[in-house]
Amino acid sequence: MTTDIKPAEAAAPAKVYQMLIDGQWVDAKSGKTFERLSPANGERVGTYPLADVEDVDVAVEAARRAFEKWSVSPAKQRHDILRAVAAKLRAEIAAQGQIMAKEVGKPLGMAMAEVAMSADVFDYYAGLSLDLHGESITQYVPDAIGLTIKEPIGVVGVITPWNFPLLLLSWKIAPALAAGCTLIAKPAQLTPGNTVELGRMVLEAGAPAGVMNVLTGPGSKIGQHMAEHPDIDKIAFTGSTEVGRTVMRAAASNIKKVSLELGGKSPNIVFKDANIDAAVAGAFFGIYLNSGQVCQAGSRLPVHESIKDEFMEKMINYTKTVKMGDPLDPTTTMGPVVDQNQLNTVEHYINAGKNEGANLLVGGERVMDNGLDKGLFVQPTIFDMVSNDMTIAQEEIFGPVLSVLTFKDADEALRIANDSMYGLAAAVWTNDLNTALKMAKGIKAGTVWVNSYHSAGLPNMPYGGYKQSGTGRELGHEGLNEYLETKAIQIKLN
Ligand code: NDP
Repeated sequence: MTTDIKPAEAAAPAKVYQMLIDGQWVDAKSGKTFERLSPANGERVGTYPLADVEDVDVAVEAARRAFEKWSVSPAKQRHDILRAVAAKLRAEIAAQGQIMAKEVGKPLGMAMAEVAMSADVFDYYAGLSLDLHGESITQYVPDAIGLTIKEPIGVVGVITPWNFPLLLLSWKIAPALAAGCTLIAKPAQLTPGNTVELGRMVLEAGAPAGVMNVLTGPGSKIGQHMAEHPDIDKIAFTGSTEVGRTVMRAAASNIKKVSLELGGKSPNIVFKDANIDAAVAGAFFGIYLNSGQVCQAGSRLPVHESIKDEFMEKMINYTKTVKMGDPLDPTTTMGPVVDQNQLNTVEHYINAGKNEGANLLVGGERVMDNGLDKGLFVQPTIFDMVSNDMTIAQEEIFGPVLSVLTFKDADEALRIANDSMYGLAAAVWTNDLNTALKMAKGIKAGTVWVNSYHSAGLPNMPYGGYKQSGTGRELGHEGLNEYLETKAIQIKLN
C-alpha cells in the first residue's frame, strides 16, 4: 500500500480541487493532477492540479498586476477583508479541521484548534493593518525634518510545510495582506487542502483578483521556480533547513528578501525544584503533539540527575495513556506520521539510537495491531542514557521520539542546550526565578518558555530561530515588518 502522493489517473477522486490564479479557479496548464491519500488508512482525500513552472509565471504576472492597486488600497479595506477571513475560518472550523485531520493525520480536535488559532492571527493583523506607521526623526541639522514611511515589499512567494498547514500559512498570509503585498501560496503537496480553501475565503472576503493566488504542485519545481523568479520580491518559507538553504541560494538571483523558519532540536530542561507533574505533562505534550512532527518539538529532555528516575517513571505511565487511531475519532490522541518517507526517517533514527548505545525505554515500533496496519502509526518512543553527541540528540527526527539526557547543574544544562546547530525554542522547568532567568538569557533560541511548552502561536509574540533554525521573525510587529520596506524621507527646510 502507498499512503503518500501518487499519480491520480487510476481512481475516482474524493474531492477535486482547482488552483486560484487571478481570481479564477483553474487547472494546471498541463492538465496533470496528483492525489493525496490519508496517512491513517490510505483512502483518497483530494485530487489537486499538478502545477509546473508555466503556471507559476501566470500567477506571478497576476500578483504583480494586482499589486499596483492593492499596495495603495485603504487600510480599512484590508482590515475588513482580514476580519472577514477570520470570521469565515471560525464559521468553517469543523470542515477545515476535517480536511486537515485527513491530510496531516492529526486528531480532529487539534486540527480544529489550529483553525481557531489561525483565525486569531487574521484578527490580530486586521488590527495592525490600521496602524501602519513610520517615525518622525529629529535631524542632525536644525533646518530639516526626517520621516520614515512603511511600504509593502511587493509580490511574496509563500512556501509552507505539511505539519501545520493552516497556522504556518496564516502567519505569512495575514501580515502580507495587512502590509499591502500580493502573493502566491504554495502548500506542501501532502497537505494542500486548507491552503486552497483559504484562497477561496480570501477571495470571498473581497480581496481583488490576483491578490492571493494558490498553486499546488512539487516544491522542487514550482517552489524552486518561485525562489528563483525575478518578479517575486520576497519568499516566506517554513520547512527543512536543507530546503531553506536552497531557497536562500535561489533568492540571491534578484536579492529577494527571505524569511525562513526551519528545523529545531529543542531542549526541554527540568530542574530538581520543578513541579514534576507539570513538567511531565509538558514533556509529553512537548514531544508528542502532532506525532512529534513539530519544528519546535521538545525532542531533547535534559533532566536533573537527582529526579530522573521518578520523572521517567511518571513519563512512561503518561505515555501509556496515548490512544492512537483514526484522526476523526474524538477519542484519538495521536495520529500517524504524515507519509512513508517520514515513517522511514523515524525508523532510521530509532535504529541510530539503538546502534549508538542509547537505551530504548518505551516504544520504538510501528503499530500494526488494532486495525492500524493500513496507516503509518509509530509508538511513542523514549530513549534514555542519551549523550548529546549522539545522532538522535543532534538531528531533527520529526517524529514521536524523545531523547532523555541528565545534567548536574545549570552550567551543564546550558552547555547541553546550546550544543546544537539549531536554536528555535527551549523550555525550562523550575520554581527558582534566578535559575529561570539565567537559563532564559543563556539559551540561544528564538523562544524560551518557563514552566510551559508549545505556548507559541500567540499572534503578538515574535517567533523564529537563532542559528540554523532560520532567519527573520513571524508574528507580532516584527512579523509585519518582514513584509514592509522602510523609506526614509529627508525634508530640507528653507
Ligand atoms: P521540505 O523543506 O522539503 O518542504 C517544505 C516546503 O518546501 C514544501 O512546500 C515543499 O514542497 C517545498 N519545497 C521542497 N523543495 C523545494 C525547493 N527546492 N524550493 C522551494 N520549495 C521547496 O520539508 P518536508 O516537508 O519534505 O519535510 C522534510 C523534513 O523537514 C522533515 O522531516 C523535518 O525534519 C523538516 N520540516 C520542518 C518543518 C518546520 O516546521 N520547520 C516543517 C516540515 C518539515 P513539496 O511538499 O511539494 O515538496
